[in-house]
Amino acid sequence: MKGEDMRKSWNGLSEEILSGMAEWREQHPKATFREIEAEVDQRLGVLRARMLADAALRSAQAEWEGEVVCPQCGAKLEGKGKKKRTLETRGGQRVELEREYGICPRCGAGIFPPG
Ligand SMILES: [Zn+2]
Repeated sequence: MKGEDMRKSWNGLSEEILSGMAEWREQHPKATFREIEAEVDQRLGVLRARMLADAALRSAQAEWEGEVVCPQCGAKLEGKGKKKRTLETRGGQRVELEREYGICPRCGAGIFPPG
């Protein structure tokens, strides 16, 4: 995903989150500070997770645009398609990263490029 697409996708999601929060506030006029804080954190956590996933994938794409070599023996890796990896953000949101996976034709090491 390129910068412009990322920005559009994040803009769309932020608008949903902001208007969702404003709506929630209208529906919960007596919410306490703690309740409001929890709601804001939960909603921003969704945006945070999306930003992390999109931005992290960009590094993976950049890695495979160049030449990736085996960290063990230095041979050029062969791309073997994509593998999914699930990470958890500090806010407790799950982020699924689909990353290119490579195998070294010389020594057989299988790696995700660093990043
Ligand atoms: Zn190797």
